[in-house]
Amino acid sequence: MYLLIIGPPGAGKGTQAEMLCKKYNISQLATGDILRKNVNEETYLGKLAKSYMSAGKLVPDELMITMIKEEILDPKYSNGFILDGFPRNLSQADALCDLLNERDIFLEKVFVLIVPNEIIIERLSGRRICRSCNRTYHVKYNPPPNNGECDCGKSDIFQRDDDKVDTVVHRLDVYDKQTSPLIEYYRKKNKVVEIDGTQDLKKVFEIITDSLK
Ligand code: AMP
Repeated sequence: MYLLIIGPPGAGKGTQAEMLCKKYNISQLATGDILRKNVNEETYLGKLAKSYMSAGKLVPDELMITMIKEEILDPKYSNGFILDGFPRNLSQADALCDLLNERDIFLEKVFVLIVPNEIIIERLSGRRICRSCNRTYHVKYNPPPNNGECDCGKSDIFQRDDDKVDTVVHRLDVYDKQTSPLIEYYRKKNKVVEIDGTQDLKKVFEIITDSLK
């Protein structure tokens, strides 16, 4: 099964994608995660992408399309995937369409999570992450334990550069201008399921899975 999830940063795409992967035995293809891994490992791609990412800008299409073409060949996607973070604009959507056609892959559904900007800003600017185990916290809603130590035992909780308020505001602007036109693009292809992403995550998951029955 091949799926796509769209929504502003912090809408909960990653969480839903993870749950979908477990349920349908497919793999998550999250371009942000792949890029962050490349930045951490200081690969050629990571070095090229780093400054765009910390500024909350889109990494150039050419790099992203080359990356996705290679990534999709990984056998772990042979049973299906859920794309999270790609495409981010219309030219990436066209490139994806060609790529899927070439490989005879049919995109089942496109889920769109809708969350108002003020909620996104609060969610992301308060988000903290453990560098060791990747667990996420929120300064207000799910604060790290008092001594600042993660449950995994390490004290390496940090704020992503691109979660700082100004950058979040910029990322939302990029989403509104460049990514949100994709909703209409996929609506024309009759693939869109729009969901209120402020609901409980189990409810969101239920709506998604019901639409796949
Ligand atoms: P994400 O974790 O999906 O919010 O992605 C983090 C950052 O990675 C974004 O703000 C962009 O700088 C970059 N990025 C991820 N996916 C893409 C994409 N499809 N096109 C361009 N840049 C991307």
